[in-house]
Amino acid sequence: MNKMLTVEDLTISFRTDEGVITPVQKVSFEVEAGKTLGLVGESGSGKSVSTKALMRLLPGSAVLDRASRMRYRAKDGREIDIENVRSTRALRRLRGGEIGMIFQEPMASFSPVYSIGNQMMEAIRLHRGLRGRAARALAIEMLDKVGISNPTARIDQFPHEMSGGMRQRAMIALALSAGPNLLIADEPTTALDVTIQAQVLDLMRSLQDELGMGMIFITHDLGVIAQIADEIAVMYLGTIVEKGPTREVIRNPMHPYTVGLLEAIPSLDRLEARLKPVPGDIPSPSERPSGCAFHPRCIQAVSGLCDVQAPPERAPRAGRAVSCWLHAEEGRTAA
Ligand code: SF4
Repeated sequence: MNKMLTVEDLTISFRTDEGVITPVQKVSFEVEAGKTLGLVGESGSGKSVSTKALMRLLPGSAVLDRASRMRYRAKDGREIDIENVRSTRALRRLRGGEIGMIFQEPMASFSPVYSIGNQMMEAIRLHRGLRGRAARALAIEMLDKVGISNPTARIDQFPHEMSGGMRQRAMIALALSAGPNLLIADEPTTALDVTIQAQVLDLMRSLQDELGMGMIFITHDLGVIAQIADEIAVMYLGTIVEKGPTREVIRNPMHPYTVGLLEAIPSLDRLEARLKPVPGDIPSPSERPSGCAFHPRCIQAVSGLCDVQAPPERAPRAGRAVSCWLHAEEGRTAA
């Protein structure tokens, strides 16, 4: 296994006016070089907060628990403990040059007052040390790679002059122009219509094959994850409740929340069947239910157990892990 990122026991709290809340609790996962980990869950499950910690983009009110470890293997082979990176220079190198990020809304990445090309060339200068014509040539090459037609002209356009799908492609080109080793994609296709979404997913897969990057793909949509991820980690209220290879988890989900997410996906084969959304809403981290946090929404909850005691994480078979009392006797304690 060629691990480029190992996250162990990541716990993040925030000081708020209402007290301390902990939206991420003891989250552990790994990303292999050239592979994609899909982080899936509803809004508020802690997916984005976890990955912002990797980029050291958490606000000042965030507190990282001392046991949290984020070990990353850089392009030159050095092991970096992300939680201990302090200097501005090292942080700048980490963000963009080592770990790139793309967002749901491209305008979050682009400044409206500079052309696309200007912004890409700045990233290329900072992270690859190229200037002038060489930087411009690389920016044009990246725009071409992400399928933007006539890149020599488009490079001088401003973000508002592009369509939504094109801006999304340009944002991917911007992230890639810094030459990251690991790409974090935070709901990058959610705002796009389905045909463009399929194109962007296709593009990201082929770029990953070509460049050998590791990727963390965040989404609430298990249908999208099925198309792009090698491994899945399902998050609920700040913890990973199930993880494993994508095919296995989708064919044989073990946690009732994963089952619920799968049943909520529309299918052309079941046009007559009514969609079954997961009942209820995800609670706020400040109102975390006792026992298994999913118990108020779980149709299989065992009264007197699930509402009292949190289930242990078990590894029912190699590569799988699940936290649910229904599987507490299976396999061994997860590592
Ligand atoms: Fe449902 Fe209980 Fe399993 Fe939680 S531990 S998911 S409440 S069955």
